[in-house]
Formats: sequence, C-alpha cells, structure tokens
Amino acid sequence: MNAPGPAFPALQPDEVFDWLDAEAARRSEAGLVRRLRARGPSTDELDLAGNDYLGLARDKRVAGAAAAASLRWGAGSTGSRLVTGSTELHAELEHELARFCGTQAALVFSSGFTANLGAVTALSGAESAIVTDKYIHASLIEGCRLSRADIAAVGHADPAAIAHALATRRKQRALVVTDSVFSVDGDVAPLRELSEACRTHGAALLVDDAHGFGVLGDGGRGAVHDAGLAGEPDVVTTITLSKALGAQGGAVLGPRRVIRHLVDTARSFVFDTALAPGSAAAALAALGVLREEPGLAERVLTVAGSLAHGLREAGLQVSGSGGAVVSVRAPGPGEAQAWAGACAEHGIRVGCFRPPSVPDGVSRLRLTARADLAESDVDRAVKVVAELAPPGARG
Ligand code: PMP
Repeated sequence: MNAPGPAFPALQPDEVFDWLDAEAARRSEAGLVRRLRARGPSTDELDLAGNDYLGLARDKRVAGAAAAASLRWGAGSTGSRLVTGSTELHAELEHELARFCGTQAALVFSSGFTANLGAVTALSGAESAIVTDKYIHASLIEGCRLSRADIAAVGHADPAAIAHALATRRKQRALVVTDSVFSVDGDVAPLRELSEACRTHGAALLVDDAHGFGVLGDGGRGAVHDAGLAGEPDVVTTITLSKALGAQGGAVLGPRRVIRHLVDTARSFVFDTALAPGSAAAALAALGVLREEPGLAERVLTVAGSLAHGLREAGLQVSGSGGAVVSVRAPGPGEAQAWAGACAEHGIRVGCFRPPSVPDGVSRLRLTARADLAESDVDRAVKVVAELAPPGARG
C-alpha cells in the first residue's frame, strides 16, 4: 500500500483554477500578456507581420482553388489520412511537392506543427540520441520532448558543437534537428556543415524549412535544395504550406522509406484528421504559381534586403540575412509591445516577439517581407518603425 500523501485543502469547484489568476498577474507584471486581435477581411494596414511571403493567400488562383475544391470534396476531409481523409488532391500535392523539391517522396500533414511532431518522434526514440540547435522551433522542441530520446541542445548555428555532441553521445542511432531559417532572427543555418558533421558521425539530419521553402533556393525550392541536400538518403525536410504557399498544412519530404515509416508510425499523422481538401487544393495551386513565376521567390529576398537596409541605416539593431524574416531588437518586452502597438496605430502591422517565443529572452519586432510589397511600402514601413523606436532600441 502507498503511504498516504500530504493532506491538501479540499477546493470548491470555483477555486480549482484560482492558481491561473496568480500566473496571469505574474505575466502582466512581466509585460507578457498576449491579446487576440480579430482582423477584418480587408484592412488599410500594411501587413508586415504575417507569413504570406509570396502574397498568394488572397491570390484568386489559390483562394479560388480552395473554394472549388471545398465545393467538390467537402469543407472537411471527413477522417484521418488512413481512413477516409486521403483524397486525390492529397496524393497529387505529395507528388508535386516531392517533384518540386527534388526528394523521393512527401507526406502531407494537417500543419507544419504536426509534421514536425510526427517526423521527430517517428525518427527517434528511447534507443536514440537527438542533437539540436538550441533555437529550434517550438514544434521541434515538443517533438524532442515526446520522443524519449537523449537530447543535447547545443549552441546556435555551431556545427562544431553539433559534431562534439554527436561524438560523445551514448546511443548509436542519432538525429540532428535544426531550422533552416530561424524564425525569430531570420538567420540561415549552416546546412552543408551540419550535413558533414552528421556524415562524420553516422547521424541523420532533419531540417525544418518552414521559412526557406518558397523563398530560398532555385525558384523557391528551399534552403535544403539550395544546399544540395534535398535528394540525399540521410536528410529529411519538413515544411509548412501556410507561409510561402499562402495555404494551410505541412509536409515531410525525404527518402521513400522514411515516408513509409511515417505513414505507419507518426502519431500526429495517424491519429489526426487529414488536411482539408480546400487547403490541399490551395497549396497545389500555389505551387503551380511558384513554378510559373519563379521570380516571386527572388522578389521576396529583394524586399527583405531593402527592409533590413533601411532599418539598419536608421540605427536599429537588425538581424536576418537570408530569408524573408527581418528582426529588430527591442530594449524589453514592454517596449516591444508598445512599439508594435504604436506602429499598428500608424498603419504598419509588425510582429512582436517576447518571451517565451524568443529563445534567448530578447524581445524583438519581426517584419516579414512579401513579394507583393512596393518600394514605397518598404519606405513607409521603415520610416514608421524608425520614428517610433523607443529609447534604447538603438543602443
Ligand atoms: N516551424 C517553424 C520554423 C515555424 O515558424 C512554424 C510556424 N510558426 C512551424 C514550424 C509550424 O507550422 P504551422 O504553422 O504550419 O503549424
């Protein structure tokens, strides 16, 4: 028999969540309260906060494909992929994604988050080691936690540290996990060096290309393709369909046997309702646009370059060098929130990143470039962000 535990006071039903109020007060004091702002369908605001990098979310070819597919196939997918949720649209999307990115196969998930959860947990376990960059996306971190593998999170963008952790691991099977473009600072991971470290030490490499796909590489084929790693037998890529493609959903791309393994074992694939047909059709249509207009990807980079240049010239502390994400440091979370709020009042919507969304605790404004922004939009955004910068932002 277990020894009796300590006696706790019996709480009334309306008291059991009282502890939430104390937590809320703590967040409020630290400037970490988040507010949901419901936007209308159209706005005069200049949007530099979303992830619609190619400006395709409202493109008639893309949104129209979603509408037509919803009418034909239904608003929802009606079941998990292994039961009734796989339509011809899902199969075609998987075929086209693999063809576009140069991998053997692809598997579509209901989001990038579930794709990451599924890929990490299915490709590791109690009998394996995972080595990660310490700034990987939250969905990858959750995947690592769920995997029960030995985890080593090492210094940011540091292939030597990754190699050292691989060399000193205690489990033979190993997976290295990284973002390609880091979502907070917008910097690009040294993928070739990471791949070399993996090969030296017999590990697989999993790259989350959420922010690189559609933006970097030949015609937007992504950072993994750009590094010459897309078709490699030891490399797995995850992407989201919700950023550059302007749709919704996620995918894992890689060797055929990896994809087969995920179909059978990735719990966020097996037990999740399939992506809605409308979203699959939208992603397919957007992929078609990207094929027809490869210059779109280059245009995002030009816009991002202008944004970063203008903000730097204005004396702000800017990071982000490779993709669409341009990040500006704020003195603290409260200042970041007030700064973003003031920008919104002046018609410029920017992202505000505060702990715990920032791995290093440094709050930032995040501006995302879009292919459909004009130079005059960029100039206006730079002017407003710079003029409203709080004291200390240029420190
Ligand atoms: N990985 C990264 C790097 C991301 O930024 C995001 C989205 N914030 C995701 C994965 C998750 O993708 P999704 O929004 O499609 O779930």
